[in-house]
Amino acid sequence: VLSVRDLHVAFGDTEAVHGLSFDIHRGETLALVGESGSGKSATALSILRLIEREGGRIASGEIRINGTQPAEITTLGASQLRALRGDRIAMIFQEPMTSLNPVMTIGAQICETLSLHLGLRGRAAHDAALTALERVKIPDPERRLNQYPHELSGGLRQRVMIAMALTCEPEVLIADEPTTALDVTTQAEILKLIASLQKDMGMAVLFITHDLGVVDEIADRVVVLKDGCKVEEGFTSTLFAAPNAPYTKELMAASP
Ligand code: ATP
Ligand code: MG
Repeated sequence: VLSVRDLHVAFGDTEAVHGLSFDIHRGETLALVGESGSGKSATALSILRLIEREGGRIASGEIRINGTQPAEITTLGASQLRALRGDRIAMIFQEPMTSLNPVMTIGAQICETLSLHLGLRGRAAHDAALTALERVKIPDPERRLNQYPHELSGGLRQRVMIAMALTCEPEVLIADEPTTALDVTTQAEILKLIASLQKDMGMAVLFITHDLGVVDEIADRVVVLKDGCKVEEGFTSTLFAAPNAPYTKELMAASP
């Protein structure tokens, strides 16, 4: 459903991604793995064309979404990009607090998303917000709607972000280290949730992480990134059983 071809991403004169290519298919979870600074987030932000906001740019390459309406993302205009983000490709981040408004209730924020993308208002929006929270298995959802982000634990905040990301039933979900800031138990719960939602909704997931243990649990396939270059790609089980690249072996040896 998404294909990236020979992507080069630059910040000023320095290139963060050098000629990266990969495909993600419908219903598949692809893990993008690499150490800090390897270009994982730069790739994710390029797919959503948010990289310009971070001071970077797509120097060359092609990013295509091939679902219901095929489009070449690198050439889309502003209004087409607005329709793409959230509607067709949604993203969740490491720290939900940075994307949540601290002075707005959870319910109001979900309703704003629902109004923006689906045109829902009033009772219809409230009911859809409740359904969204139920979908991500937040206990006591009616009460949560009236709470502020700081009143929720990190794990619940990440569930709210997932709920908001999935309101439009996107074709692709990009998760940039969504569990890195969470304790191990909560991390496992969120991984389980993402896996079960993906199964139910059939979307493709690009799961970004530096943690190989997480990859083993969630990904069908893996792309290993080093200094902006792909060093290895393969099915998770094959790759873990017999990594080809020396760098992948190093990563595996370094992970617990
Ligand atoms: P992490 O695991 O720490 O999140 P990452 O793999 O996501 O790392 P990126 O954030 O994509 O790495 O960064 C790739 C390269 O681009 C790094 O060398 C980084 O220093 C550089 N870079 C990232 N953001 C900027 C920026 N706003 N301005 C200049 N350089 C940047
Ligand atoms: Mg990153």
